[in-house]
Amino acid sequence: MTSKHFGNIQMRGLNKLGDVIVPGEGSFPRFGQTEFSSEIDRMLDYMYEDDRSGLSLLMTIFAFTPSFLIKWVVLLSEKNAQFPDFIGAPLRMIQLGLKGIILTLYYSNLDDQNQYGEKIMKEINWSTTVAKLDSDQEVPVMRKETSSWTNPSSDAVTQIYDNARSAEKEIYKMTVKQRRNFITSLKKLILDEKEKIVDIIQKDTGKGRSDALFSEIFGVLDHLTFLENEAVNSLKDAKIKTPIALMGKKSKIFYEPLGTVLVVSPWNYPFYQAIVPITISFITGNSTIYKPSEFTPLKGLVEDLLYRAGFQDDWVQIVYGDGKTGSQLIDKRPDKIFFTGSVATGKKIMSQASEMLIPVELELGGKDPFIVFDDADIERAASGALWGALTNTGQSCTSVERIYVQENIYEKFKTKLLEKTKTIKQSVDKDGDSDMGGMTTDSQVGIVKLHIDDAKTKGANLLTGEGWNGKDNLIPPLVLDNISDDMKICTEETFGPILPLYKFVDEEHAINLANDSDFGLSASVWSADNKRALRVTRKLKTGNVSINNVMLTEGNPYLPFGGTKYSGIGRYKGVHGLHSFSNMKSVLIDSNSNKIEANWYPYTKRKYQLFSGMTEGLFGGGIKNFIKFLIYGLKLESYSDKVGKKGRV
Ligand code: NAD
Repeated sequence: MTSKHFGNIQMRGLNKLGDVIVPGEGSFPRFGQTEFSSEIDRMLDYMYEDDRSGLSLLMTIFAFTPSFLIKWVVLLSEKNAQFPDFIGAPLRMIQLGLKGIILTLYYSNLDDQNQYGEKIMKEINWSTTVAKLDSDQEVPVMRKETSSWTNPSSDAVTQIYDNARSAEKEIYKMTVKQRRNFITSLKKLILDEKEKIVDIIQKDTGKGRSDALFSEIFGVLDHLTFLENEAVNSLKDAKIKTPIALMGKKSKIFYEPLGTVLVVSPWNYPFYQAIVPITISFITGNSTIYKPSEFTPLKGLVEDLLYRAGFQDDWVQIVYGDGKTGSQLIDKRPDKIFFTGSVATGKKIMSQASEMLIPVELELGGKDPFIVFDDADIERAASGALWGALTNTGQSCTSVERIYVQENIYEKFKTKLLEKTKTIKQSVDKDGDSDMGGMTTDSQVGIVKLHIDDAKTKGANLLTGEGWNGKDNLIPPLVLDNISDDMKICTEETFGPILPLYKFVDEEHAINLANDSDFGLSASVWSADNKRALRVTRKLKTGNVSINNVMLTEGNPYLPFGGTKYSGIGRYKGVHGLHSFSNMKSVLIDSNSNKIEANWYPYTKRKYQLFSGMTEGLFGGGIKNFIKFLIYGLKLESYSDKVGKKGRV
């Protein structure tokens, strides 16, 4: 094992670290058994000198460190998120940096030529074949009739709520750890059956296969993994500080279920919008009534998966129907409504809920800005804009719908974007080999046509997609410029594959343009100057911002998600999201003493004077006041106890 950069000692350290990270299992060899040294120089050649010498020093240290200590450091680095930043950041570097190096060296050798290659490919079931979409395929519905309902009558709605109220009690009895087992089974099932699920999603939505896999399946699995890792910790009783005036007492928060949660979902990500809120509701201990969109019900799929993952009848009930059904379900007063959909429906739901003071969380539409400064990498920014505007054929609440480009790079950016737009491949594909699928509903096709016609009439230039007939649901990418703010495409959510281009002069101009909208869901800021990007980010009135990337906050299940202005109310996902589906019960614990509290009756002149002095001491600041607080506080305590027991004298 030789290297032009590392000596024997460093190679020994690397080997030790490698064996800790990849100890080997089954057909997988240990790190030290592979030919990693053939790749090491290629990797080190790419590193900056400083990083190379840093790594060399670390490997020298590892060479003389016992393996169990290295293992401990690696395990600790996985828990980096639990530490304050000054410890968490170096631990994160260890986790990403060292693991990255070891795994790259390891896997770079696993090709077919390698003695282990073939065996390993077999073990990981390497296959590039994708299940075929069978349009006649029906999903087996294995649930009992009572767990899913279609257009229920008013008696049936009463029954749904009776079921839910009984289910609440069963779910309440389980610990979060017990509930987590069902999440794990569901995750496994979804992973095993992902191709079949993608078939069903495609059948209902007409979206591209890759869109279904990347956004719905991967997103759901990522979220379920988050629940597996974080729910138990986030929902355990939290210890809270107790101020000095309440000395001797303890404060806690219990995260308890709300009861029954009604989830109402839209048609654009029907699988994700089902599983994510249903599982948040379940892990936090609620029973759930789920109403999917009438346009993409995925009929039979969700109940079948939940049933096979072990969910009992009525823990989650699926109710098929349209807006009228949704409204009937609200009438029975769930303990929370989690709604995702349009602004118009959000207003109706909030108004109906307000009559019964039902808490509502609204995840509504957007008109998201994408801001490109002149120092950004134009190639990457143009690719980001293209994907951000076209993913899911633009039918995403956080789709890019306004592209602001600094005027001195505007033409260059526009040329690049147009060039890239021409390469987009569109079809409802069966093998993932297409960029964009079709629109899901005819009415949404109508809205896109309305916005394009309106923009053209008012003077916008349509730079691509002239050949679209205004009816076909395979709408091509539509790049426009010369947009003015009296156009619908500038102010209303289009929810289609549009790329409207605007110019801006400077930072302030870009911020004003981006904030000049009724919506505030998400935004994207592109600049090589990190300080500028952060400055702009702080000034955007929105719920989510990705810097030098697009729609990426949603990609991290640890981050809360939600909007400002007309984009919605509340936050879900992340730890905040778990808490928003919980009753945060504040608990103050006092000891079982016979003491009478100072703020209880009787109120007397003497008590007033002592309380007044104690208040001045407590809030006045400084050591003198602190002593005053202690003296008055102690006197007040003993006086209150005496007068409380003997009565007013
Ligand atoms: P929609 O508002 O038309 O319908 C959403 C759901 O509400 C459907 O299930 C529908 O049957 C139901 N509904 C309609 N009227 C109702 C009523 N009076 N009472 C109760 N339920 C009622 O929305 P859509 O067209 O299905 O979805 C597209 C919209 O969703 C877009 O505006 C998009 O931006 C938004 N969306 C937002 C997010 C987000 O997280 N912010 C995510 C996805 C989609």
